[in-house]
Amino acid sequence: MTTLFVSDLHLDAARPEVTDCFVRFLEEKTGKADALYILGDLFEVWFGDDDPEPSHGIVAAALHRFARAGAPIYLTHGNRDFLIGQRYARESGLQLLDQQTTIEIGGDRMLLLHGDELCTDDPSYQRFRRIVRNRTVGRLFLLLPLSLRRKIADRLRKSSMETAKPDAIMDVNATSVATTMRAAGVRIMIHGHTHRPAIHQMQLDGEPALRIVLGDWYTQGSVLRWTEHGPELKTLTVKQA
Ligand code: MN
Repeated sequence: MTTLFVSDLHLDAARPEVTDCFVRFLEEKTGKADALYILGDLFEVWFGDDDPEPSHGIVAAALHRFARAGAPIYLTHGNRDFLIGQRYARESGLQLLDQQTTIEIGGDRMLLLHGDELCTDDPSYQRFRRIVRNRTVGRLFLLLPLSLRRKIADRLRKSSMETAKPDAIMDVNATSVATTMRAAGVRIMIHGHTHRPAIHQMQLDGEPALRIVLGDWYTQGSVLRWTEHGPELKTLTVKQA
Protein backbone atom coordinates (compact mmCIF):
# COMPACT_ATOMS: atom_id res chain seq x y z
CA MET A 1 0.00 0.00 0.00
CA THR A 2 1.56 3.27 -1.17
CA THR A 3 -0.19 6.59 -1.57
CA LEU A 4 1.82 9.42 -3.10
CA PHE A 5 1.42 13.14 -2.46
CA VAL A 6 3.10 16.02 -4.29
CA SER A 7 2.48 19.75 -4.58
CA ASP A 8 4.12 22.97 -5.72
CA LEU A 9 5.83 21.57 -8.78
CA HIS A 10 5.33 24.97 -10.45
CA LEU A 11 5.89 23.32 -13.85
CA ASP A 12 6.92 25.93 -16.36
CA ALA A 13 8.21 25.80 -19.94
CA ALA A 14 11.21 27.84 -18.69
CA ARG A 15 12.35 24.92 -16.50
CA PRO A 16 11.96 21.79 -18.68
CA GLU A 17 14.29 19.80 -16.38
CA VAL A 18 11.63 19.86 -13.65
CA THR A 19 8.93 18.67 -16.05
CA ASP A 20 11.34 15.84 -17.06
CA CYS A 21 11.85 14.96 -13.40
CA PHE A 22 8.08 14.75 -12.81
CA VAL A 23 7.47 12.68 -15.97
CA ARG A 24 10.27 10.28 -14.91
CA PHE A 25 8.73 10.05 -11.43
CA LEU A 26 5.33 9.18 -12.95
CA GLU A 27 6.86 6.54 -15.23
CA GLU A 28 8.74 4.99 -12.33
CA LYS A 29 5.62 4.80 -10.14
CA THR A 30 3.20 3.66 -12.83
CA GLY A 31 1.53 0.48 -11.60
CA LYS A 32 3.28 0.72 -8.21
CA ALA A 33 1.05 3.10 -6.23
CA ASP A 34 -2.55 3.05 -5.01
CA ALA A 35 -3.22 6.72 -5.68
CA LEU A 36 -1.51 10.03 -6.43
CA TYR A 37 -2.65 13.29 -4.85
CA ILE A 38 -1.45 16.59 -6.34
CA LEU A 39 -2.15 19.28 -3.76
CA GLY A 40 -1.97 22.39 -5.90
CA ASP A 41 0.44 24.46 -7.95
CA LEU A 42 1.19 21.66 -10.38
CA PHE A 43 1.78 24.51 -12.85
CA GLU A 44 3.41 27.89 -12.33
CA VAL A 45 0.57 29.62 -14.17
CA TRP A 46 -2.66 28.51 -15.81
CA PHE A 47 -4.53 30.77 -18.20
CA GLY A 48 -7.11 28.18 -19.22
CA ASP A 49 -7.36 24.62 -20.55
CA ASP A 50 -7.25 25.98 -24.14
CA ASP A 51 -3.61 27.19 -23.77
CA PRO A 52 -1.67 25.29 -26.48
CA GLU A 53 1.58 25.24 -24.42
CA PRO A 54 3.22 21.89 -25.45
CA SER A 55 4.48 20.96 -21.96
CA HIS A 56 0.87 20.80 -20.73
CA GLY A 57 0.24 17.98 -23.22
CA ILE A 58 3.42 16.14 -22.19
CA VAL A 59 2.36 16.24 -18.52
CA ALA A 60 -1.23 15.23 -19.38
CA ALA A 61 0.00 12.20 -21.35
CA ALA A 62 2.27 11.06 -18.51
CA LEU A 63 -0.52 11.49 -15.94
CA HIS A 64 -2.94 9.61 -18.17
CA ARG A 65 -0.55 6.65 -18.54
CA PHE A 66 -0.16 6.56 -14.74
CA ALA A 67 -3.93 6.64 -14.19
CA ARG A 68 -4.61 4.00 -16.85
CA ALA A 69 -2.36 1.59 -14.93
CA GLY A 70 -5.05 1.62 -12.24
CA ALA A 71 -4.11 4.29 -9.69
CA PRO A 72 -6.46 7.28 -9.49
CA ILE A 73 -4.97 10.78 -9.62
CA TYR A 74 -6.61 13.58 -7.64
CA LEU A 75 -5.85 17.26 -8.02
CA THR A 76 -6.54 20.12 -5.63
CA HIS A 77 -6.12 23.57 -7.15
CA GLY A 78 -3.31 25.82 -5.91
CA ASN A 79 -3.14 29.60 -5.99
CA ARG A 80 -1.26 29.43 -9.33
CA ASP A 81 -3.31 26.90 -11.26
CA PHE A 82 -6.84 27.25 -9.84
CA LEU A 83 -8.23 27.64 -13.36
CA ILE A 84 -7.40 24.06 -14.35
CA GLY A 85 -10.75 22.77 -15.57
CA GLN A 86 -12.60 19.61 -16.57
CA ARG A 87 -11.11 19.56 -20.08
CA TYR A 88 -7.53 19.27 -18.79
CA ALA A 89 -8.69 16.87 -16.06
CA ARG A 90 -10.13 14.58 -18.76
CA GLU A 91 -6.97 14.81 -20.88
CA SER A 92 -4.89 13.84 -17.84
CA GLY A 93 -7.23 11.16 -16.51
CA LEU A 94 -7.41 12.94 -13.16
CA GLN A 95 -10.20 13.96 -10.83
CA LEU A 96 -10.53 17.48 -9.47
CA LEU A 97 -11.00 17.78 -5.71
CA ASP A 98 -12.62 20.49 -3.61
CA GLN A 99 -10.33 23.02 -1.90
CA GLN A 100 -10.39 20.83 1.21
CA THR A 101 -10.92 17.07 1.09
CA THR A 102 -10.89 14.46 3.85
CA ILE A 103 -9.59 10.99 2.98
CA GLU A 104 -8.74 7.85 4.94
CA ILE A 105 -5.63 5.72 4.58
CA GLY A 106 -5.27 2.57 6.68
CA GLY A 107 -7.76 3.87 9.24
CA ASP A 108 -6.16 7.34 9.51
CA ARG A 109 -8.41 10.22 8.51
CA MET A 110 -6.59 13.19 7.04
CA LEU A 111 -7.40 16.57 5.56
CA LEU A 112 -5.82 17.52 2.24
CA LEU A 113 -5.54 21.13 1.06
CA HIS A 114 -3.18 23.41 -0.85
CA GLY A 115 -2.78 25.50 2.29
CA ASP A 116 -2.80 29.13 1.16
CA GLU A 117 -6.04 29.68 3.10
CA LEU A 118 -4.03 28.94 6.29
CA CYS A 119 -1.74 31.94 5.74
CA THR A 120 -4.05 34.33 7.56
CA ASP A 121 -1.21 36.53 8.88
CA ASP A 122 -1.26 38.05 5.38
CA PRO A 123 -4.67 39.76 5.12
CA SER A 124 -3.90 41.48 1.81
CA TYR A 125 -3.22 38.08 0.22
CA GLN A 126 -6.45 36.66 1.69
CA ARG A 127 -8.39 39.61 0.22
CA PHE A 128 -6.78 39.04 -3.18
CA ARG A 129 -7.52 35.31 -2.90
CA ARG A 130 -11.22 35.90 -2.23
CA ILE A 131 -11.50 37.98 -5.40
CA VAL A 132 -9.57 35.80 -7.84
CA ARG A 133 -10.97 32.51 -6.51
CA ASN A 134 -14.53 33.76 -6.91
CA ARG A 135 -16.29 31.44 -9.39
CA THR A 136 -17.92 34.24 -11.38
CA VAL A 137 -14.62 36.13 -11.68
CA GLY A 138 -12.96 32.93 -12.94
CA ARG A 139 -15.71 32.22 -15.45
CA LEU A 140 -15.57 35.76 -16.86
CA PHE A 141 -11.76 35.65 -17.05
CA LEU A 142 -11.93 32.45 -19.13
CA LEU A 143 -14.23 34.19 -21.64
CA LEU A 144 -11.44 36.63 -22.55
CA PRO A 145 -9.09 35.91 -25.45
CA LEU A 146 -6.05 33.86 -24.37
CA SER A 147 -3.59 36.69 -25.19
CA LEU A 148 -5.44 39.08 -22.90
CA ARG A 149 -5.67 36.46 -20.11
CA ARG A 150 -1.91 36.01 -20.36
CA LYS A 151 -1.34 39.77 -20.11
CA ILE A 152 -3.58 40.17 -17.05
CA ALA A 153 -1.99 37.19 -15.27
CA ASP A 154 1.53 38.50 -15.98
CA ARG A 155 0.63 41.88 -14.54
CA LEU A 156 -0.88 40.33 -11.40
CA ARG A 157 2.20 38.17 -10.93
CA LYS A 158 4.59 41.11 -11.31
CA SER A 159 2.72 43.24 -8.80
CA SER A 160 2.67 40.38 -6.25
CA MET A 161 6.45 39.92 -6.68
CA GLU A 162 7.11 43.63 -6.07
CA THR A 163 5.73 43.52 -2.54
CA ALA A 164 8.28 41.45 -0.63
CA LYS A 165 6.83 40.24 2.66
CA PRO A 166 8.57 39.13 5.84
CA ASP A 167 9.11 35.38 6.11
CA ALA A 168 6.87 34.79 9.12
CA ILE A 169 3.66 36.12 7.58
CA MET A 170 4.16 33.84 4.56
CA ASP A 171 3.84 30.76 6.78
CA VAL A 172 0.65 29.19 8.10
CA ASN A 173 -1.09 30.67 11.13
CA ALA A 174 -1.24 28.18 14.04
CA THR A 175 -4.78 29.20 15.05
CA SER A 176 -6.02 28.74 11.47
CA VAL A 177 -4.42 25.28 11.37
CA ALA A 178 -6.17 24.23 14.60
CA THR A 179 -9.54 25.71 13.55
CA THR A 180 -9.35 24.00 10.14
CA MET A 181 -8.43 20.61 11.66
CA ARG A 182 -11.21 20.87 14.24
CA ALA A 183 -13.79 21.79 11.60
CA ALA A 184 -12.79 18.76 9.51
CA GLY A 185 -12.67 16.48 12.57
CA VAL A 186 -9.14 15.26 11.79
CA ARG A 187 -5.78 15.06 13.58
CA ILE A 188 -3.75 14.84 10.38
CA MET A 189 -3.41 17.53 7.75
CA ILE A 190 -1.33 17.49 4.56
CA HIS A 191 -0.70 20.70 2.63
CA GLY A 192 1.80 22.50 0.41
CA HIS A 193 2.10 26.15 -0.60
CA THR A 194 4.68 27.33 1.96
CA HIS A 195 7.55 25.32 0.41
CA ARG A 196 8.72 24.30 3.90
CA PRO A 197 8.67 20.50 3.76
CA ALA A 198 8.40 18.90 7.20
CA ILE A 199 6.42 16.49 9.35
CA HIS A 200 5.31 18.54 12.36
CA GLN A 201 4.18 16.74 15.50
CA MET A 202 1.74 19.01 17.28
CA GLN A 203 -0.92 19.07 19.99
CA LEU A 204 -4.57 19.66 19.17
CA ASP A 205 -6.87 20.00 22.18
CA GLY A 206 -4.43 17.99 24.29
CA GLU A 207 -4.07 15.15 21.79
CA PRO A 208 -1.20 14.45 19.37
CA ALA A 209 -1.72 15.61 15.81
CA LEU A 210 0.34 15.79 12.60
CA ARG A 211 0.77 18.57 10.09
CA ILE A 212 2.70 17.46 7.03
CA VAL A 213 4.04 20.05 4.61
CA LEU A 214 5.02 19.03 1.08
CA GLY A 215 8.05 20.60 -0.60
CA ASP A 216 8.41 22.47 -3.88
CA TRP A 217 10.06 21.24 -7.08
CA TYR A 218 12.53 24.01 -7.91
CA THR A 219 15.99 22.51 -7.35
CA GLN A 220 14.76 19.00 -6.48
CA GLY A 221 11.60 16.94 -6.48
CA SER A 222 9.68 16.40 -3.25
CA VAL A 223 7.30 13.51 -2.58
CA LEU A 224 5.40 12.26 0.44
CA ARG A 225 4.92 8.49 0.47
CA TRP A 226 2.32 7.05 2.83
CA THR A 227 2.80 3.32 3.33
CA GLU A 228 1.91 0.79 6.03
CA HIS A 229 4.89 2.28 7.94
CA GLY A 230 3.35 5.76 7.90
CA PRO A 231 4.36 9.00 6.17
CA GLU A 232 7.83 9.65 4.75
CA LEU A 233 9.13 12.69 2.83
CA LYS A 234 11.52 11.94 -0.05
CA THR A 235 13.50 14.15 -2.40
CA LEU A 236 14.20 13.45 -6.07
CA THR A 237 17.14 14.70 -8.11
CA VAL A 238 16.44 17.14 -10.93
CA LYS A 239 18.89 16.46 -13.76
CA GLN A 240 20.08 19.78 -15.18
CA ALA A 241 19.65 19.92 -18.96
MN1 MN B 1 0.88 27.94 -3.63
